[in-house]
Amino acid sequence: MQYYSLGKQSPNVAFKTAAITGQAPDKGLYFPTSIPQLTPEQIERFKTLDKASLAFEVMRPYIGGTIDDVSLQKICKETIDFDFPLVPITKNIQSLELFHGPTLAFKDVGARFMSRCLGYFANAEKKSSYDTTKLASDLTSLQNSNTILVATSGDTGGAVANGFLGVEGVQVIILYPKGKVSLIQELQLTTCGQNITALEVDGSFDDCQAIVKEAFMDVDLNATFHLTSANSINVARWLPQQLYYFFSWQQWVAQYGDNTPMHIVVPSGNFGNICAGMIAKASGLPLGHLVAACNANNVVTRYLKTGNYEVKKSVETISNAMDVGNPSNFVRILEIMQHNFDQLKNGLSSYSYDDEATKSAITRVYNDYGYILDPHGAVAFLAAEALIQEKGYAVILETAHPVKFPEVVEAAIGKKLNIPASVQYLLDKPKQSKPLEANYASFKNWMLGQ
Ligand SMILES: *Cc1c(COP(=O)(O)O)cnc(C)c1O
Repeated sequence: MQYYSLGKQSPNVAFKTAAITGQAPDKGLYFPTSIPQLTPEQIERFKTLDKASLAFEVMRPYIGGTIDDVSLQKICKETIDFDFPLVPITKNIQSLELFHGPTLAFKDVGARFMSRCLGYFANAEKKSSYDTTKLASDLTSLQNSNTILVATSGDTGGAVANGFLGVEGVQVIILYPKGKVSLIQELQLTTCGQNITALEVDGSFDDCQAIVKEAFMDVDLNATFHLTSANSINVARWLPQQLYYFFSWQQWVAQYGDNTPMHIVVPSGNFGNICAGMIAKASGLPLGHLVAACNANNVVTRYLKTGNYEVKKSVETISNAMDVGNPSNFVRILEIMQHNFDQLKNGLSSYSYDDEATKSAITRVYNDYGYILDPHGAVAFLAAEALIQEKGYAVILETAHPVKFPEVVEAAIGKKLNIPASVQYLLDKPKQSKPLEANYASFKNWMLGQ
């Protein structure tokens, strides 16, 4: 299995190169040259297969032999080493809770898989380089070989920091907007130490992202560091996200059997998550309809309605992990749908909701059903209510734990949230961050002066 660039100018590469470089030289996203096809025998067996074996079997073709089987088994096992329960909210709507990982967000799956792959590649190189004449230069290039640079509005930073903590040969630099992430989110990305550095930018998420974008194009920085992005454009982060669609489907068929399709609503921002579901479906996993739930940043919702893809600057909302004006993974969705608008409309629907609707959904779902949604899950719940008018039932992906958005959720349900034991320990750890002005020059000075 190789990967081609959707920019169509760069040569095909193996998984390893795609994972290390993130993006192709022509700035296109990588896409598998063929989508592996599951056999009916596999699908049948998957119904009751343990999660780790299932993950290994699904991911193996995408790795294309660049990681040995024993190591890949270990990577898969570690990646999905927590629960993915399907929990009923109403009679017709269930929640696939993706927030039982270490940073309480679905991004843990992609970040953990990616970090372990890069760690594997860095170590494999080291092991094969005990030629002393080569060693010095290899170690220098290794030190610089993977500097992960990420801008975060909250969730990505924590998941990436946690995923990469202690991974040898990889340095992580996270830019986050000062005062604009929640307490738990900030602690998750500023208390790691070791190979993780948090830069607290005196500006907005857009400022952080602009700095990161400029860094990737900066000739001086790229001569010193091998910069890699850890967002869902990276295939090593994007592709493992399909795994929990399999886990959800296992639980669904156990309840309803084969003949009741599982329709899924995905809170979407950069569209990496839903696009992973679409690739699982394209490989033969029998999923029902897929729905992208969006906040006011609704370029895709509007596109499906009008046929006009009209990019707008992102606006701030309470479901801020979805505040994306121009979703990077949408090109991959078009590729899966063979750039055919009718096929796309058959395979994907989208609904959009504003903050007022989102807040009242959190209140109503808590009052009526005793279930606490986070703002992203609440947008998905609203879309699920629209979908079941036609389809009868739906699963929403609950992408983060409500405690990551305490101000909004506590105001909506009228009570304090309990901090889960798994993140309680963070409250005693000291925050370590480097304040940074919101301009590229300050960032570059800091990088080169390190
Ligand atoms: C990142 C994130 C999303 C959006 O996921 P995409 O893959 O970018 O569409 C939704 N909800 C939460 C909580 C997130 O952290």
